[in-house]
Amino acid sequence: MNSQSPIAQPLLTWFDSAGRKDLPWQHDPTPYRVWVSEVMLQQTQVTTVIPFYERFMARFPDVHALAAAPIDEVLHLWTGLGYYARARNLHRTACLIVTEHQGHFPRTLEAMQSLPGIGRSTAGAILAFSHGMRYPILDGNVKRVLARYFGVTGFPGEKKVEEQLWALADACTPADRVAHYTQAIMDLGAIICVRSRPLCIACPLSAKCVAHLEGRQASLPTPRPKKVRPHRIAHAVMLVRSGGAVWLEQRPPRGIWGGLWTFPQFDRADEALEYLQSLGITGEPKRLPPYSHAFTHFDLTLHPLFAVSDALPAAVGEKAGLWYDASEPAKIGLAKPVLDLLKFCASSAV
Ligand code: SF4
Repeated sequence: MNSQSPIAQPLLTWFDSAGRKDLPWQHDPTPYRVWVSEVMLQQTQVTTVIPFYERFMARFPDVHALAAAPIDEVLHLWTGLGYYARARNLHRTACLIVTEHQGHFPRTLEAMQSLPGIGRSTAGAILAFSHGMRYPILDGNVKRVLARYFGVTGFPGEKKVEEQLWALADACTPADRVAHYTQAIMDLGAIICVRSRPLCIACPLSAKCVAHLEGRQASLPTPRPKKVRPHRIAHAVMLVRSGGAVWLEQRPPRGIWGGLWTFPQFDRADEALEYLQSLGITGEPKRLPPYSHAFTHFDLTLHPLFAVSDALPAAVGEKAGLWYDASEPAKIGLAKPVLDLLKFCASSAV
């Protein structure tokens, strides 16, 4: 036990009675299984992740199966989880593990962090959970617990605040039972020390927690300084053949919805109309209600134009594309607006 850690023993005692011990990735915690769970959990809650994780593991039970799979199939199984860069990095890393590490995950923090999509916290979690090695983690939940317990002010996204939290995370991580401690502090942040109205009355750390003792739970951690979010507008063209198949194009590998399949999209309405005219569709297309989507750094409003025609060719335009039939879905990754707009069409029988 790290005798310097004021929180390890109370957290471990709490974990023994109240911590989560039956999550799918806690059974047989190989580096591969822990890694996939950690990446899925980076932006998504446990209850949402579980069914995605189980489907993913059923299809890709080990790193070789994942590396051998087409990226489209990986994105397909990721559809609905969001933040698709995570899935692309997962696939790239699986390929690197197979080609450069003989199918085995590295056992040092530095080598682990050199892999795509694996930062210091994810690397620490993989080594702690799968090998019991003493490395701290610092995900969003842990940042919140530490900032409140120690009364750390300043937005945790700022470098010097983050460094301070890393130093505390390191000092608090015990040498013994590191996997249980790591799960305990993650669970405490997810279940007890939640963002709004933390359940301090049930918290094993309440006796010495600065935020609790000073009533500062609502102001810690310090929120991100406010900025005006950019807002972008785009025009999506939904081309439909009479059988119901919809034309989709694959996005470039980088950028928003990288590698996913979407409707042809234009920055300006006149470009979308010109595109329709170039396909011989001259009448006024039907305009569906605007669709809003929030990305991490900006908001997007899509204005969908809907056009049905039997005269459309097998391949439309020069970009890679396909006719997508929702009754026999291809195994491809669909961007969220495509899923929603296809449902909207079906429900309103557009
Ligand atoms: S006492 Fe309250 S604020 Fe402090 S760590 Fe526990 S739940 Fe969080």
